[in-house]
Amino acid sequence: LSPEVLDLRDTMGELAHLLDRLVGERVKLRISHGDDLPPIRADKRKLEQVVMNLVVNARDAMPSGGEIRLETAALDLSTEMRRDRAVVPAGAYAVVRVRDEGEGIPPDRLTKIFEPFFTTKRPGEGTGLGLSTVYGIVKQTGGFIFVDSAPGEGSTFTLYLPAYRGGAETDALAETQ
Ligand code: C2E
Repeated sequence: LSPEVLDLRDTMGELAHLLDRLVGERVKLRISHGDDLPPIRADKRKLEQVVMNLVVNARDAMPSGGEIRLETAALDLSTEMRRDRAVVPAGAYAVVRVRDEGEGIPPDRLTKIFEPFFTTKRPGEGTGLGLSTVYGIVKQTGGFIFVDSAPGEGSTFTLYLPAYRGGAETDALAETQ
């Protein structure tokens, strides 16, 4: 892992062309950014893999086309947030959301979705790393990932990535040590 301080707006901007190609003709990808996004510290390639995977999954959930929204936002949690069995500590986060308008994920599958080897795809159909790998990368980054979905209502994956609180110089120093 080689973490660096990243501006999500830049990172997503560099990835946008590739993502547009990945989603194909029938799916429209809309990227939007929130104001005052904090920097984060993450392995850039791994973060790109995470976003690519979530976008490819969103595409695959809409075989006859639709819209994917990739959104970033700044979030300050004044108190810890409990969700599923996770406890997201209070603090500043950059949030990344990938939202599709697909068929949605049945409730009984939602709890298993980040487990290794769980897939709803047929053999040979899975294109990406799988959500368990996505989950692993998010955990390595000190972040969290949650999914909201209901049959017929599409799915939203939300990443909470802790804001990086050091200065650029401190970080450059840390990298050389
Ligand atoms: P769990 O998956 O059974 O994990 C139990 C504990 O094992 C975790 O406690 C953590 O200390 C460790 N652990 C599990 N997977 C990983 C991993 O991939 N990397 C690392 N570094 N450690 C791992 P923790 O963090 O307090 O989480 C408690 C429970 O909360 C987890 O049980 C899981 O059910 C849920 N959870 C934690 N983080 C997330 C998240 O980002 N998204 C979702 N949906 N659930 C989460």
